[in-house]
Amino acid sequence: MTTDVQEQPGLGSLRELRGVGPKLQEKLERLGLTRVEDLLFHLPLRYQDRTRITPMGSLQHDMEVLVEGTIDYAEIAFRRRRTLLCHVSDGTGSILLRFFHFSNSQKLAMERGRSIRCYGVVRRGPSSLEMVHPEYRVFKEDQEEPLDTALHPVYPATEGLQQKSLSRLIDQAIDRLDRLQDWLPEEILQDAGLPGLKDALLEMHRPDASVSIIDLVEGRNRAQQRLAFEELLAHQLSLGRARLRVRSLSADVLKTEGAMIPAVRQALPFSLTAAQQRVLDEIARDVSVPAPMLRLVQGDVGSGKTVVAAQACLMAIEAGRQAAVMAPTEILAGQHLEKFREWFEPLGLEVAWLSGSMKAAERREMNARIASGEASIIIGTHALFQDEVSFSDLALVVIDEQHRFGVHQRMSLRDKGRSDKHIPHQLIMTATPIPRTLAMTAYADLDLSIIDELPPGRTPVKTVAIADKRRAEVVDRVRHACTEGRQVYWVCTLIEESEALQCEAAEVTATQLADALPEVGIGLVHGRMKSADKEHVMQAFKNGELDLLVATTVIEVGVDVPNASLMIIENAERLGLSQLHQLRGRVGRGSTESSCVLMYHPPLGENGRRRLTAMRETTDGFEIARIDLELRGPGEVLGTRQTGEMQFRIADLLRDQAMVPEVQQAARRLMEQYPDHVQPLITRWLGRAQEYGSIG
Ligand code: ADP
Ligand code: MG
Repeated sequence: MTTDVQEQPGLGSLRELRGVGPKLQEKLERLGLTRVEDLLFHLPLRYQDRTRITPMGSLQHDMEVLVEGTIDYAEIAFRRRRTLLCHVSDGTGSILLRFFHFSNSQKLAMERGRSIRCYGVVRRGPSSLEMVHPEYRVFKEDQEEPLDTALHPVYPATEGLQQKSLSRLIDQAIDRLDRLQDWLPEEILQDAGLPGLKDALLEMHRPDASVSIIDLVEGRNRAQQRLAFEELLAHQLSLGRARLRVRSLSADVLKTEGAMIPAVRQALPFSLTAAQQRVLDEIARDVSVPAPMLRLVQGDVGSGKTVVAAQACLMAIEAGRQAAVMAPTEILAGQHLEKFREWFEPLGLEVAWLSGSMKAAERREMNARIASGEASIIIGTHALFQDEVSFSDLALVVIDEQHRFGVHQRMSLRDKGRSDKHIPHQLIMTATPIPRTLAMTAYADLDLSIIDELPPGRTPVKTVAIADKRRAEVVDRVRHACTEGRQVYWVCTLIEESEALQCEAAEVTATQLADALPEVGIGLVHGRMKSADKEHVMQAFKNGELDLLVATTVIEVGVDVPNASLMIIENAERLGLSQLHQLRGRVGRGSTESSCVLMYHPPLGENGRRRLTAMRETTDGFEIARIDLELRGPGEVLGTRQTGEMQFRIADLLRDQAMVPEVQQAARRLMEQYPDHVQPLITRWLGRAQEYGSIG
């Protein structure tokens, strides 16, 4: 059963609807509504429940409800402005109605003893609960007033476009519902136990009184789930298609059984964990076929991703090709450089370096070596992906700490080193564990590997939260640690995004600590220092020449100093959970027991308290990610909020995670059995402009 897309008549243009002239059309366009079909997918933001009356005795601030009672009396008060006050009670309690704009006849109609029914939001007033400007109707007490039989939808509106007129237009669109094509085949719907599209849309727009508003709020309504399913599916299809496009290109087959791989491995002071080995096997399988690898490796901080990346690079080198490793900061890239040199130089392999802070002449020389193929392993920052860099034979790109790059960036990076239909393999490493279902959605274009095991011999970091008024005790603790020969990080944070302020705070703290701890060797790194200076300080700390490193959150990711076993984080309550976890991952890398002190400024807010509690209770990155997702939502966790990626109209990644595996299965089925349905679904939910992978 396939349907020819071309033959679909659609539901027509807005101008065909009653009451739509050029002006209204313009307003609708402001809401992104250009076709009749769009109106059907313009779903209510929320619903008002006027199907039942709430007793006044149970009213609370902020409730939006229908109430009914008897008018005790109405009065006009002259305070700052002329106000109509109407006192109403229903035997269980009372409420005050307040109007600032009113006519005399309105006041006269509010006769004592008459019944009144009002709909509005309850507010705590100066002396009692109130409703300000509620919708209301006065009637005789013996009159029966019927209640609504359906929930009342509230649509996202725009200025000058009333709910009523929007609702009337949607009614007209609903009249044409029969012409709407349901792109989900019956069998998929049945397996998922979901209603058809028409029924689902009708229920969302015009839910009858039997529909539970609580189910709607909590996302348990079947109609809503059906639409969320379809939206997630469209998203999955879009990424899936991007993936297919890339996979249809070719890539070099790399060599996974050369002599260098075991040579490096034997020289390591440790053996790989089972998880590292498993991930390497997955990578080896990917690069043994002439299609590009697209693999995301998730591994908690300290799980040992670097050595996995290094072994993967050797697969390219053994095949006589180039490999590039990119990290988001100079410090991190520099650290990789150091590790790679330690591992590779004994084999006579040169590791090249490219960064934005290199002198122009040096850079030119390096570019020449990269272009000629003389340099085979190149480590660097974003500088690697500038136009002037051209690789002679790039076969593998490793991107470390990928959570800072979005989907689109990821795709554009693929273009580097591609020739015609030939692109490099890609390995992406992230230390931000993302709950599996979220990863399956956000990275549906990638294969997932997880390093779910830490190297042996690590003792979990002990974490405590301490109010900042006990700072002196914390400073003592630092002194004590340093005299024992341990090394300490002191992390300064500020809520301001201004880097300048953060750096200033770090400078001030470093000076204060130097005064308080004259016997301790203190270094300072922050984002505004020249990278050579930063490097110098970091190196000194690594070499053990400094005891205490005061830093801004620049040390958040990746920095590896195994002898550091105490970390102090100032203003910890202001940082996100993942960031705290990343920071804490800087300690606990050696064999000494490590601790982390979270200093906070009381009183703690609800979220701050939950974050600090979570940090104290677990060191498991996946558990932290799960809690973080609950506290902040998917957009923040994925770091895509600013870029506008992963914004759903009806689906909610947190709420709907349980359906993700089924969505994924449906996506595969659709691509195989109903390829004609793919494009219409993507267009319906993502529009043409926002599709992923248009570059692919
Ligand atoms: P991350 O996954 O956070 O990037 P790294 O690659 O920096 O972690 O590794 C953290 C530390 O653990 C490094 O000092 C590294 O040499 C060490 N390491 C990596 N793998 C193992 C292993 N299998 N056994 C012991 N130590 C290891
Ligand atoms: Mg790392």
